[in-house]
Amino acid sequence: MTSPSEAVRLITARLTAFESTLLNRIGTVERKLETRLAAIETVLREHAPERDLGCGQGPDGEHVLTSTCPLTCLQPPVLPARPYNALVSGCCFSVIGDVITASQAGELTELRNMGPISAERVESVLRTAGLLPRVES
Ligand SMILES: [Zn+2]
Repeated sequence: MTSPSEAVRLITARLTAFESTLLNRIGTVERKLETRLAAIETVLREHAPERDLGCGQGPDGEHVLTSTCPLTCLQPPVLPARPYNALVSGCCFSVIGDVITASQAGELTELRNMGPISAERVESVLRTAGLLPRVES
């Protein structure tokens, strides 16, 4: 018959061994995952080259809106807060070119909180920058 203190010692020893086994297995899984992640990153880098990202610059060094501008180049006061927030929070746009594509597909008003007036403000800014064709009148 084992005494209570002996039972506690045995259980503690078993738990310690179990913990050690678990930590070893977790370490093995972590190393395998790191290897796989590195392989995935390599494949992504080879097959999805970095997108051009950058602002245009005018002759006097001033900012020029281009299709490779990040979305933040449209932040107020360029656009009012409402359409800007709809662009930023409503979708997966990362550059102005994404907004141009959505506009040309007539999809801007499908964004949450982007009504026709807000969409027109966005398109007006893009037209002014020469990124969308002017409206025939
Ligand atoms: Zn820019």
